[in-house]
Amino acid sequence: MSRRLLFLPTALMLALSPTLVKAGEGRADDYSALAQQETRLATIGYRLTTASAGWCPEVTPQPGWILGDLRQFKPGERAAASGTYGVGDGAFVAAVVPGSPADRAGLTRGTRIAAINGDAIAPSDTGPTIRIDTAIVKLYTIDPTAAWTVTDSAGRLYPMAPAPGCASAFRVELSGAQAAANGILVRVTLKLARSIADDSELAAVVAHELAHNILRHRERLGKDRSAARVRATELEADRLAVWLMADAGYDPAAAVRFWNRHKRPLVRAASHPPRGERIAAIEAEIAAMRAARAAGPARRPPLIDALPPLE
Ligand SMILES: [Zn+2]
Repeated sequence: MSRRLLFLPTALMLALSPTLVKAGEGRADDYSALAQQETRLATIGYRLTTASAGWCPEVTPQPGWILGDLRQFKPGERAAASGTYGVGDGAFVAAVVPGSPADRAGLTRGTRIAAINGDAIAPSDTGPTIRIDTAIVKLYTIDPTAAWTVTDSAGRLYPMAPAPGCASAFRVELSGAQAAANGILVRVTLKLARSIADDSELAAVVAHELAHNILRHRERLGKDRSAARVRATELEADRLAVWLMADAGYDPAAAVRFWNRHKRPLVRAASHPPRGERIAAIEAEIAAMRAARAAGPARRPPLIDALPPLE
């Protein structure tokens, strides 16, 4: 397993784009729905990242959690949100994946994270997600094959077992683009997650966004985001998602079912390939993957080792 640190942690912080403040109705129901979808996304993300750790170019510890912060909510909504997540100022555990290192260490929803490996998560400014992002960046500095620790706000120490996974965190948003990836984070809106009842179809959407991160599309596109180049990255992400899905035990054809049902693109842009083209690319990749894996069960996705230049 290789571990390639492409960025220094400080550069990673800069790569994080500002996150919209969660804007909900402010009812307790909204937050329990949010927490439910966070657990679902955390589980899908944990499965996808850890199952493909063997070929991902960059691997980090995957705790099996989604982190939250009451600062993500508007001031008037924080009281309602704290009913679900607990009170207190600091980054907290919003969702835990059953059986993950976070679960086995005894972390539960609402546990406030004060330090990772003894390094304090300081409230460096008042940004809505700065403390969560600090925690994500700290994970990038930890050897993914080594045990590590979490300290909660009461000083209790949680021993975390190693669980290497493709480098990415996950977050459910109440507003913004339906699904997006910014290099180290995959975001899905609550509305989109709730609209996809089938876990393998949601996994298809998440795997596509995760593939953008693994393939460093944000970095590779740079400032030249011409339609042709963006289309190329979309098809690459569709193709790599097939391997992520299969490794994690999801049916890769769920992506085809999703696109057949979801007629409109998630991002309404002329630069996105037409649905038919995407479905054809996914079906061709499924066939190619099955042939490759029949010849060698541990075959890596060819895209990882021979990335074609973006035209
Ligand atoms: Zn995409």
